[in-house]
Amino acid sequence: MNSALTSPDAKFVLLKNLNPLCHKGGERDGLLATLSWDQVKPTITESVKLSGGDPSKGLVYGPDAFGLSLPQGQTPTERLREELESSGEYDFVDTRALARSEGWERYEAALVAQARSMIDWNERNQFCPACSRRQYSLWGGYKRGCSSALGVAAEGSEFAKPFLPPPHRSFKEDGKGFCPSTKVLSNFCYSRLDPVVIMCIISPDGEKILLGRQKSWPKGMMSCLAGFCEAGESLEESVRREVFEEAGVGVGAVIYHSTQPWPFPNSLMCGMMGVAIEGQDKIRLDLDNELEEARFFTRQEVLEALSSSTSNFSKDDLAKIDEKVRKEMEEERKAKGISEEEWTKTVEEREKTEIRRTSLRLPPPSAIAHTLVASWARKEAVIPLPPKGKM
Ligand SMILES: [Zn+2]
Repeated sequence: MNSALTSPDAKFVLLKNLNPLCHKGGERDGLLATLSWDQVKPTITESVKLSGGDPSKGLVYGPDAFGLSLPQGQTPTERLREELESSGEYDFVDTRALARSEGWERYEAALVAQARSMIDWNERNQFCPACSRRQYSLWGGYKRGCSSALGVAAEGSEFAKPFLPPPHRSFKEDGKGFCPSTKVLSNFCYSRLDPVVIMCIISPDGEKILLGRQKSWPKGMMSCLAGFCEAGESLEESVRREVFEEAGVGVGAVIYHSTQPWPFPNSLMCGMMGVAIEGQDKIRLDLDNELEEARFFTRQEVLEALSSSTSNFSKDDLAKIDEKVRKEMEEERKAKGISEEEWTKTVEEREKTEIRRTSLRLPPPSAIAHTLVASWARKEAVIPLPPKGKM
């Protein structure tokens, strides 16, 4: 670990509030910036001293790179953060915005996703879930253990001292009792990964696709249905349960398509495809009221939306466009001297026809939902449709 840390090839991905350090200006504007050991050495060595010998606080190790968290209000990480921000060469950029930007290499995107998820997990799991003592980090930040185990392994040693709250000199006298996690094989904590199913549900004849929208999304924005897997469920069962809960539709055959890591903070989006059961494809939204709208779209509608420029826009971008259009329409209303009530009626009529005809908006290509929908629409995905009239 030490030789990897101090190697001239070591790369450090720096994060502030889980947003990565990126270049500002120049050829790599907006792309990931990594620092060398020499650039981060003063911060890391001083942090180790300050945190009482817990060298991996805010530092995680990847394949050939390290993630380093620079939280606010903690010197010397604060000092390094200020130096970087005031240099004019770097910026910490919102990860969700980066997820949509073009030009990122797959390797660098994966590096940020890994660093972000692992730092988040380490920062949220400072204390033992079994006895509430401080945990220590192992395996370059990929595992955490209860510090009382250090006391058991070498009683009275200096090793465990940084983890003991003063004035105690041993874990036996800190009043927290025996930690059950030190007695069994499950005496360590590993980082979590939360599986989420996201699915293309196809009509029984294979010619339409079920898409839905949440209330908070911009107008016309529709996407695949999705939800967290629950304990004891297979991915296939999660798909069937989620689709029934959100849209009242029964799903028969389910197949796996592809996955996408989603580090907000630690999900794995499992892209699935399923076929609605004949006679159970009537949509109802009142079961859990999660969606504002859900309906089946034809292949033609989806292909048109995919070829439209709006499919490159994120939900945030679309919301901004909608806001701009709203303002322009308000100016138009005032200029024409039409009352608000009269104008609303005119706009509603206009939207009714326009939305139905042209304004289906899909998630951008960086989202797995886009990949799923596109591979169905372009007939790239092979979906096992039931024989006609049977399921
Ligand atoms: Zn414990």
